[in-house]
Amino acid sequence: MLATSDARLRALLEAAVDGIISIDARGVIQTFNPAAERLFGYAAREVIGQNVNGLMPSPYQEEHDRYLARYVATGEKKIIGIGREVVGRRKDGTTFPMDLSVAEARLADEQIFVGIIRDISERKRAEESLSQLAAIVESSDDAIISTALDGTIVTWNAGAERCFGYSLGEVKGQHISMLAPADLSCDFAAMLERIKRGERIDHYETVRIRKDGRPIDVSVTISPIKDAAGKVLGVSAIKRDISEQRKINDEVRAMTQQLWQAAKLASVGELAASIAHELNNPLATVSLRIESVLGRTPADDPRRRALEVIEQETKRMGELVASLLQFSRRGEEKISTVDLRQELGKAVELIHHHLRKRLVTVVQELAPDTPTIYADRQKLRQVFLNLLTNAGDAMPRGGTVTLRTARAALEGGEPAVRIDFSDTGVGIPAEHLEKVMDPFFTTKEEGKGTGLGLAICRRIVQEHQGTIQISSEVSKGTTVCVVLPVRSGANVKSIRGSGAVE
Ligand code: ADP
Ligand code: MG
Repeated sequence: MLATSDARLRALLEAAVDGIISIDARGVIQTFNPAAERLFGYAAREVIGQNVNGLMPSPYQEEHDRYLARYVATGEKKIIGIGREVVGRRKDGTTFPMDLSVAEARLADEQIFVGIIRDISERKRAEESLSQLAAIVESSDDAIISTALDGTIVTWNAGAERCFGYSLGEVKGQHISMLAPADLSCDFAAMLERIKRGERIDHYETVRIRKDGRPIDVSVTISPIKDAAGKVLGVSAIKRDISEQRKINDEVRAMTQQLWQAAKLASVGELAASIAHELNNPLATVSLRIESVLGRTPADDPRRRALEVIEQETKRMGELVASLLQFSRRGEEKISTVDLRQELGKAVELIHHHLRKRLVTVVQELAPDTPTIYADRQKLRQVFLNLLTNAGDAMPRGGTVTLRTARAALEGGEPAVRIDFSDTGVGIPAEHLEKVMDPFFTTKEEGKGTGLGLAICRRIVQEHQGTIQISSEVSKGTTVCVVLPVRSGANVKSIRGSGAVE
């Protein structure tokens, strides 16, 4: 009879999931079951007969003997009886959190203690990540709301409070449709149906109503909350207020539209100049507003990207306006002597960084006898920069642009200088060759090109009584050839007199 119950007990200890260790009144280990072996990494025979404090890290190791002695002497409980969280130490020296409960037993004249141990590392980790998650939710700028499957609000973070103006107390237990404008409240039923099927709704843009009645544009992501088995228990919704972003976006879009239309209508005449001028002010306003919104948006805020795109677009628009102004302005020419070699070198220097980023090499084969000419230095620089930019854009995977100068003659034998800009880029198809110098002809994707670069070049070269020609072969490269009269000082007046060529 005794033998069977002993065998039964042993089988129980062997099969137990929890670590079970028994010690005597001096703390010496007497039994150590297989689960304890797994937990601590010791074989039973290695620890039986050793003090149990070897399974604890400092300072518990040192304190344990004292606890035990005091308990045996006074009955004062420190560990015994209460399930509690302590730290265990494995054979390899690593430690782990464990839940320990100790029971006391008396066998004949012997007093023993039985410890039941459960590794709670997993539970601790889960608790930590849960509290982390809770902190993230609470500190999020976005409104994060969870509801039951019927749509009643269960949780409501600080972001939701800021976004909608209601406190958790005011909304808890209410139906989520309280946030919808009257005409949109039917949305919810359909959405809840989809969520119940386990679907997720991403970045759905809609309108919600704040406590003060003000409508706000929001981007909503709704997902099901599932239990471990995948059953849908509730709904979580993340809402982001995009009102301000929307407003700026709309303004920028409307303005771009206006700008393009106006510019095209005016066919780049004086009207374009005045419109471009008019646009400068609202553009500056938008630019300032974006700057201020960006200033108030922390560096790690996911909304920054959209704002930065708007900022970029606004900058591009500014550049377009500037080119338009430049194109139509009939500014006074400032004629001076221009050392072409030096001036080409400067243009290359100005754009060097931009080209190097694109792996474009610039080769300058400037003839030593390149003459000094009479011209408007500022405008020539514009021509050179435009041509170098185009060459760079034509070589997205890198290449070479070669600048060559040579003496030449214009019609009637007028002494001139010829400057070639040759690139190894994508080239221009024959059917485009005639059109590339037209204002607003561009093959670049929207926002990247204005189509004004070559038109400006042509106008400036013509103002100087020169010529500009383009030859190109698709996938081989393009050469733009600019010929400018050298002119003597005596002829400068005639440049001034001629004005612009339409
Ligand atoms: P944008 O650069 O704004 O497009 P441009 O007047 O400078 O306007 O040029 C008009 C078009 O001519 C370009 O979009 C491009 O298709 C073509 N182009 C100009 N230069 C080159 C070049 N070096 N290689 C290939 N295509 C060119
Ligand atoms: Mg260009």
